[in-house]
Amino acid sequence: MRILDFLVMKDKILLGHGSGGKMSADLIKNIFVKNFSNSVIEALTDSAILSVGTSSLAFTTDSYVVDPVFFPGGNIGKLAVCGTVNDLAVSGAEPLYLSASFIIEEGFLIKDLETIVLSMKDEACEAGVSIVTGDTKVVKKRQCDKLFITTSGIGILEPKNDHIATGSTIKAGDKIIVNGYLGDHSAAVLMARNELNVQSSVISDVAPLNGLIKNAMAGNTIRFMRDITRGGLATILAEIVENHNFGIRIYEEHVPVRQEVKGLCEIFGFDPLYMANEGKLVAVVSPDSAESVLKKMRNHKYGKHAAIIGEITKNHPGKTVMESIIGGNRIIDKLAGEQLPRIC
Ligand code: MG
Repeated sequence: MRILDFLVMKDKILLGHGSGGKMSADLIKNIFVKNFSNSVIEALTDSAILSVGTSSLAFTTDSYVVDPVFFPGGNIGKLAVCGTVNDLAVSGAEPLYLSASFIIEEGFLIKDLETIVLSMKDEACEAGVSIVTGDTKVVKKRQCDKLFITTSGIGILEPKNDHIATGSTIKAGDKIIVNGYLGDHSAAVLMARNELNVQSSVISDVAPLNGLIKNAMAGNTIRFMRDITRGGLATILAEIVENHNFGIRIYEEHVPVRQEVKGLCEIFGFDPLYMANEGKLVAVVSPDSAESVLKKMRNHKYGKHAAIIGEITKNHPGKTVMESIIGGNRIIDKLAGEQLPRIC
């Protein structure tokens, strides 16, 4: 976005407000959290953590507007189920029930809708959740683009996992782990748009991660998890250290990115650290659990390329620094502006 655009448009919503990066964070803080104001929303966790009697519930909602609705490796419905399951699971909760609301443009093919619904059924089945309520609205042609889906979900959160959504127990020495290659989802959607007529075999990584997370958590100390969606890994790492007395150091050579995605990033001018994923998470784990978590992830089909990419450090508090392959240091900040609109 050019500076001039920003000055002219500062009273209007811009695409960057939906990026999952700094503009999204500012909008959420200054419009939504400020006015809805309560202790649950102010925690800014992936799922709201709610006390109900003696137990805790995780509760989350997400809207899906991906363009196109079908892309290599998935479709908008698969995304809508996996995204909500993952927001619950990375909060340390066991996902249980989902809702699904559909806003459909007049003229959308019923057979395409059924294909999308069938893949939602398959993903819900794999994740062990039930889609128990929903809503359908149809709008006139050109009043929305094909199909938008909103899913909400609830899950049970054991009290011993209360800290995972906020990362309140993170300390220096903890290790940072990702469960595999970054950037596949963004690359697949980008290719499906085919604006530059570049060929690629990359498919989206969209997947429900609750099985992998359950395995990784067993017997291990996980301090924090988040799924790496809009804003990418960089934005999450910058948020982890924000206003804290610790920093993060990561090593570029350990960050898993497919050669093909690296190539596409060079062509399109993207940075894999800022690209959206739909089957990837970052976990902060205690040093004595790191090898076990890594092993358990690598033994799961959605974690074969898991890697320890860095650690929490007392040095440079409040900052995330990446040591590059050639040895230099680069400060990693939140995504500024918008990288790829309608990626999920
Ligand atoms: Mg999330």
